[in-house]
Amino acid sequence: MHYQVVIIGSGPAGLTAGIYMGRAKLSALIVEGPLPGGQLMTTSAVENWPGEVSIQGPDLMIKMRQQAEKCGASLLSQSVTHIDASQRPFVITLDDGKNVTADALIVATGATARRLGCKGESEYWSKGVSTCATCDAPFYAGKDVIIVGGGNTAVTEAEHLSHVANKIYLVHMFDQPTATDPIKDKVLQNPKIQRIANSTVVEVGGDGHHATHAIVEDQKTHQRTTIEVYGVFLAIGTTPNTDIFRGQLDIDKYGYLVVRNHTTTSVEGIFAAGDVADYRYRQAITSSGVGCMAALEAQAYIAGRK
Ligand SMILES: Cc1cc2nc3c(=O)[nH]c(=O)nc-3n(C[C@H](O)[C@H](O)[C@H](O)COP(=O)(O)OP(=O)(O)OC[C@H]3O[C@@H](n4cnc5c(N)ncnc54)[C@H](O)[C@@H]3O)c2cc1C
Repeated sequence: MHYQVVIIGSGPAGLTAGIYMGRAKLSALIVEGPLPGGQLMTTSAVENWPGEVSIQGPDLMIKMRQQAEKCGASLLSQSVTHIDASQRPFVITLDDGKNVTADALIVATGATARRLGCKGESEYWSKGVSTCATCDAPFYAGKDVIIVGGGNTAVTEAEHLSHVANKIYLVHMFDQPTATDPIKDKVLQNPKIQRIANSTVVEVGGDGHHATHAIVEDQKTHQRTTIEVYGVFLAIGTTPNTDIFRGQLDIDKYGYLVVRNHTTTSVEGIFAAGDVADYRYRQAITSSGVGCMAALEAQAYIAGRK
């Protein structure tokens, strides 16, 4: 099968790109991948999507999917295992071994937040365990929370949470957070933030409905302490889903696709959108916005080729 554009990924970036390509009456295939609907399928209330005061993440993504289909995009419940960016049209290999070809490609494979893998983490996922303080901070107003991590993301999120939460425990692995100044200094001087050095969370516990506490272990003494908290925020890194593009597209040292002018990758005709190329904002609205930009760039590219 040949399409004018193949969109790899069905999160906010990919589905928005699909809406724009469909409305432009170009043949567009969205390959949904291992997590149809993307990261928002794993959360509960979303309260920062304009036009929706509060909406469940899966409900929002089902609406976006329906809209993409209604606009004319085709969806395929498979994953991409390989692309050949050296040929025109581009060749995209699916996990059943079949190939599809495309004049243009939009990569919207997102990113995966790293998890601790500790006891209780899955049970209380989205019920106290979160990977996004920017998204979830208001749910923790006046509460005590833990942030796991000591890098720039962790201290930035600690600072962000300090505006709403009652107390923040910053649990980090080394003597000092590895974050850079001046944000680190600002956080260390914040009276609401208490550092717990050389430590990690080894268990999240709760009442069956929501997290109520976490067990923190000192990595030097192995002493364990139970801390009563309503939330545990993981800020231990994010892995962009770019493995299948290695050797085909430029990738930076952190694994993100390298783009210029917002969406242009190192190969002409291949565009990127969303968390796969964004270590900074990582929001549904920004991913959708760049998905729109990638679609408009892909339309211009296809028109130019004609
Ligand atoms: C728990 C949680 C709560 C969040 N809450 C909010 C919130 O309230 N507000 C907000 O703005 N943001 C929130 N975010 C962040 C938001 O979900 C992301 O910024 C956004 O989903 C990124 O969109 P994306 O389209 O770039 O990628 P993703 O949503 O990560 O989607 C990636 C897509 O790529 C597909 N894919 C991956 N590999 C392949 C492959 N090989 N072949 C084909 N497809 C592939 C996946 O199946 C998936 O469909 C939250 C994130 C999490 C984890």
